[in-house]
Amino acid sequence: MKQTQLFQKTTKEVKQTDISRNAELLTKAGYVNQLMAGAYTYLPMGLSVLNKIEKIIKEEMNAIGAQEILMPALQPKEVWEKTGRYDTIDVLFKLKGAGERDFVLGATHEEVITPLAQTIINSYKDLPTAAYQIQTKFRNEARAKSGLLRGREFRMKDLYSFHTTQEDLDEYYEKVSEAYKRVYERCGLGHITKKTYASGGAFSKYSHEYQTITEYGEDIIYIIPGTDTAINKEIINDKEALKDIIPNYKDGMEKEFEQVKAIEVGNIFKLGTKFSQACELKYTDKDGSTKYPIMGCYGIGSSRLMGAIAECISDDKGLIWPKEIAPYQAHLISLVFDEEGMKICEEYYNKLKSNGIEVLFDDRTGIQAGEKLKDSDLIGIPNRFVISKKTIEQNKIEWTERLTGKTELIDFDKAISILKE
Ligand code: ATP
Ligand code: MG
Repeated sequence: MKQTQLFQKTTKEVKQTDISRNAELLTKAGYVNQLMAGAYTYLPMGLSVLNKIEKIIKEEMNAIGAQEILMPALQPKEVWEKTGRYDTIDVLFKLKGAGERDFVLGATHEEVITPLAQTIINSYKDLPTAAYQIQTKFRNEARAKSGLLRGREFRMKDLYSFHTTQEDLDEYYEKVSEAYKRVYERCGLGHITKKTYASGGAFSKYSHEYQTITEYGEDIIYIIPGTDTAINKEIINDKEALKDIIPNYKDGMEKEFEQVKAIEVGNIFKLGTKFSQACELKYTDKDGSTKYPIMGCYGIGSSRLMGAIAECISDDKGLIWPKEIAPYQAHLISLVFDEEGMKICEEYYNKLKSNGIEVLFDDRTGIQAGEKLKDSDLIGIPNRFVISKKTIEQNKIEWTERLTGKTELIDFDKAISILKE
């Protein structure tokens, strides 16, 4: 893609309500644009990053046998009354339609998938089963001031599973947990994302949150020393839970645990039969008796994940996209503006493309070299290739790795092999 044709531009202007680091970086680099607090447009490269994150999530969900579906975001009030959550979820968007009919904008989808599952689950032979979607969710959040981290409209992957036994749910829950680990690793957040014990509700002692450590996070977690896991602040004073979670627990040891701020990028939850009972979802078991399937639900905020990556994997110059989710692998920058120079750049650009490399070509003229390089750092594509008078004279190209800042003059063919690695 040529930068002169891109429906996206870097900007110095950031709205006053865009005070968080992720919103500031993503807005300046032109990836997103705020319509109002908590609602963003994704511009081409922003959408590309979001799509790549969601592709990773889909691959990992498909790998554990979950099937993708798409449910309506617009829902009738009645399904929410059935579970009693019409009045208890404070962030639910409620609206009136034609004929004074009451609707809800989906904040989560247990109320839709459970009745839906009635059309699929009749017998024990239909279980276990699991379905997920990736969709825009709506929540009337009071404080939507953290950019992509807390939207009024945001993207979420929500997976729901149905089982005949507790053991079967437990087993699947572990599989999902492993899949989540892979998602965060592939998104570059593996080293700072902790599986965190949180309160579990009526059915199970705990649920688990996936918390990415960042000083801009809204939650506080306590890291269990020598492990990859943590405990959410809200359960840290529960002695029984601590004894249960930590082998060799010693009284008061939690006071020594490292305490960090974090943002919840996903969670997994055992629901039990709460929703199957409320929605009268039943199946016939082997012995002919009628039972309620045991359910689990598992969320990942894909747009929040994008915000968390921007917050955590960036420096004072801008974004640093991990390779697998970068909008482009190469940023080719022309610092030569005469006809002959531009011809050489254009040839390189076409060669990269014909080698199947995703490349953004800064073909802008009349812009200072310094400004181009500054923009390139801000945009955060993993590899930068600069063509200048100096490089042309030596028949080379200047390669800079965004992550390390390492710069080298290399042959053009080497550039291709670096990118194909
Ligand atoms: P939080 O406590 O941060 O409000 P939650 O407990 O309400 O999150 P869930 O209802 O379980 O979260 O939603 C599943 C996932 O969706 C969360 O783990 C988070 O990653 C994401 N998420 C929740 N609310 C938002 C929001 N307002 N904006 C962006 N992502 C969100
Ligand atoms: Mg919430």
